[in-house]
Amino acid sequence: MATTEVMLARRAPNRLYIGGAWVESRSGETFATRHPATGAVLAEVPAAGAEDVDAAVKTARRAFEAGAWTGMDAADRALLLWRIADAMEARRDELVRLEVLDNGKRIREAEIDIRDAIDAFRYYAGWTTKLQGDTLPVRGNVLNYTLREPVGVVGAIIPWNFPLLMAAWKVAPALACANTVVLKPAEQTPLSALELAAIAHEVGLPAGVLNVVTGFGETAGAALVRHPDVDKIAFTGSTAVGRLIMQEAAGTLKKVSLELGGKSPNIVFEDADLEAAARGAYTAIFYNSGQCCTAGSRLLVHESVHDALVEKLVERAAKVQPGDPLDPKTRFGPLISQEQMERVLGYIEAGRAEGAELRTGGKRALYGGQEQGYWVEPTIFVGVRPDATIAREEIFGPVLAVTSFADEDEAVRLANDTVYGLAAGVWTRDVKRAHRVARRLNAGTVWINTYHPLDAASPFGGYKQSGYGRELGAYALDLYTQIKSVWVDLS
Ligand code: NAP
Ligand code: MG
Repeated sequence: MATTEVMLARRAPNRLYIGGAWVESRSGETFATRHPATGAVLAEVPAAGAEDVDAAVKTARRAFEAGAWTGMDAADRALLLWRIADAMEARRDELVRLEVLDNGKRIREAEIDIRDAIDAFRYYAGWTTKLQGDTLPVRGNVLNYTLREPVGVVGAIIPWNFPLLMAAWKVAPALACANTVVLKPAEQTPLSALELAAIAHEVGLPAGVLNVVTGFGETAGAALVRHPDVDKIAFTGSTAVGRLIMQEAAGTLKKVSLELGGKSPNIVFEDADLEAAARGAYTAIFYNSGQCCTAGSRLLVHESVHDALVEKLVERAAKVQPGDPLDPKTRFGPLISQEQMERVLGYIEAGRAEGAELRTGGKRALYGGQEQGYWVEPTIFVGVRPDATIAREEIFGPVLAVTSFADEDEAVRLANDTVYGLAAGVWTRDVKRAHRVARRLNAGTVWINTYHPLDAASPFGGYKQSGYGRELGAYALDLYTQIKSVWVDLS
C-alpha cells in the first residue's frame, strides 16, 4: 500500500543523479528506505560508494569550470531557481506525501516543510542579482573594488528530520551564488532529494550543477568530505559527526559550515501567559516527535507556576494517540527508525534510573494496537536535576525534562549550562525582562512568547557546540561566496 503510494508520488527513478543523468551505483548495491509508522519498505535506492562520489564531484567540477552556470547572467540564474520553486509548488501535494511516507512526520508538518523549502528557493532567487561588491577608499591613485565569487563545488550533507527543507537551505543559496553542488541526503530519507533532482532536471538546470548521491555517511558522506576537489562542506547533523567532518576537512583545508545538535532551554517566568506558554512548551518539545535540532527539550519553569504549567502539559501529552501520518487529524507521529526509538527509550530508562519523576509516557507506543513502526509516547519528566543525563544530552525524541527555578539569574544560569547553543525560548509579559534575558542567553536563536518559527529571511545557526556559520537570510551568502579584492593603478 505504502509502496504503491510512493510510486504514485514519484517521478525520480531509484538511481543516483550525476551529470544530468540517472545512473546506478558502480557497485550495484542498494539499501531500503522505510515508512516509520509501520516499518514497511518504500523503495530501494543506490548505496553510492567513493567511486560514485568521485564521479559526482568530477561532473560538478566540470560544470563549475565550464562556465555555463557560473557565467550565466544572474537574472537567468534567478529564473531557474524560481522555476524550481514553481515546479515544487505544482507538485506540492506529491512532495508532501513523499515526505510523510519517507520520514513519518504528520502531514500538517510536512506541508510546512514543503512551503518553507519553496520559500528558500524563491528567497535566494532574489539574491542572485544582488551579489555585489564594494569600491573602497584606499590610499593612492588606485581603484580598489571587491568581487563576490562562488566558492566552487559544494558538498551538502543533510539529516533526516526535515529532508527536503534541509536540502533547500543548502542547495538554494549554493546555486544562487553560482556554485555547483553534490547533495547527500540522509540514508533514512533519500526520496525527496531525488525528487528535487528530477525537478531541477525538468526545469533545465544545466547538467552537473546539482548532483544527488544517496548512500551512507561512513562511505558516501566521508568520501565527499575527503574529496580534494570539493571546496566546501555544508553539513547539518549531529555534533559527533560535525566533529569528524572538521577533523577530516583539515586534510584539504576545505571550508566547512556546521549546523549541529542542541539541548535548548525554554524558560517560563511567573508573569507568563500560562495557557500560551503551555501550548508553546508542548510544541517546542513535541513538534516532529521531538526530532528537531531546536527542540525545547529543557523546560525551565518558575517555581510559583511550575505545578500549574506541568499539569496543563501532562494533560495534553497524555491525550494524544498515534495516528496515520497521512491523516490531517493525526496529532502525533513516529520516530524515524528502530535505532532512534531504542535510543530514546534508553534515555527514558536513564531518566528513571537517575531519579527524575516520570509524569506521563515513558513507553513504546502501539500503532493500530500493534508493535509496529517506531513510536514512543510523549514523555514528561519533572524534578530533573541539571546534571542528569536527560538534562545534558540531546535525546532527539519526545522526551521533556522539566526543572524549576527561583529567580531570573538562576533561570539564565541553568539555561546556559550546556555545551550547546542552538536556540532558547522565553515566556514573559515583562517587555524589559524579555529583551534582557534574550541578550543573556547563549543561543543562535531566541524565541520570545513563541517557539520554532523560522523563515528564509532570518539567520539560523548555533553558538558553542551547536556549530558555526549562519544559514538563511543574507548571512548564508557568506557561506557560499568568497571575496576577491581587485587593485587597479590609475596613475
Ligand atoms: P548524523 O548521524 O550526524 O547524520 C547527518 C548526515 O551526516 C547524514 O547524511 C549522515 O549519513 C551523514 N554522516 C554520518 N556520518 C558521516 C561521516 N563520517 N562523514 C560524512 N557524513 C556523515 O545525524 P542524524 O542522525 O542524521 O540527525 C540527527 C542529528 O542531527 C541530531 O543530533 C540533530 O541535532 C542534528 N540536527 C541539527 C540541525 C541543525 O540545524 N543544527 C538540524 C537537524 C538535525 P547517514 O544518513 O548515512 O547517517
Ligand atoms: Mg525512510
